[in-house]
Amino acid sequence: MNRIDALCRNFLWEGRTEYTRAPLVAWDRVCLPKQEGGLGLRDLVTWNTVAVGKLAWWVFHGPDKLWVQWVFSQGDWIEKYKIRDAYNGLRDIGPKVPWFHQVWATWSVPKHRCIAWLVYQGAMNTRVKLNLIGISDTNRCYLCESKEETISHLFFDCEYSSLILVFLENWLGMKLRRENVLRWIISYRATRMKKRLIRAILNATIYFIWHQRNICRLECKMERPPVIGAKIRTVVKANCLPKIKYPVHNQDMRWLSKIRTD
Ligand SMILES: [Zn+2]
Repeated sequence: MNRIDALCRNFLWEGRTEYTRAPLVAWDRVCLPKQEGGLGLRDLVTWNTVAVGKLAWWVFHGPDKLWVQWVFSQGDWIEKYKIRDAYNGLRDIGPKVPWFHQVWATWSVPKHRCIAWLVYQGAMNTRVKLNLIGISDTNRCYLCESKEETISHLFFDCEYSSLILVFLENWLGMKLRRENVLRWIISYRATRMKKRLIRAILNATIYFIWHQRNICRLECKMERPPVIGAKIRTVVKANCLPKIKYPVHNQDMRWLSKIRTD
């Protein structure tokens, strides 16, 4: 079981079964439910223990046993042995993470969610991190080359990222540049439709900034912030706007027609 877990783990991080580098997030954290900060994968060792338990339960208490049939016939006070419940019973249930709704935003594209998940885990190999372990000879940000490249710098203190937000502010007609955008969005209040849209846009922005930063790192190429902003707008128009169910709240109608046509 540990071996199968290891294969799954390597596949998640590397896309293949051999182990080549340290994972960004510990496996026991990956196996937590999404609400508790994980990806909702199952830890096979625990799952196997529970499944064997179920087998034993049926051997001794299977429905062909007369007394079990009698117990079930007495009402639904007896709970059947459910693997999922037992699995949850065998692990310590942790607190819910405050960023759950942001990372798993309903209208967000899956690959955008994955990068947002790593960001909120603090699990990005930023240049500060790479510099600390001796992989990079500097800790300067790839995008602005003036400040240290940490997660909070990239999202969204960096001048480059901030200019992408300016583009989006003009498109959306709302303020996005704030003290701590990653924290601000967690408690962002609006109508459900607008909240879904802004959450998806922020995840897309995180994704595109990280993508541009990697292009800069690997190919030394750099696109201007408005070009990245326009890409985000195109992705959102193609993926999110078609998901809006009409009629929408009156106050959103004019706003929607503006962002649709701009
Ligand atoms: Zn920067």
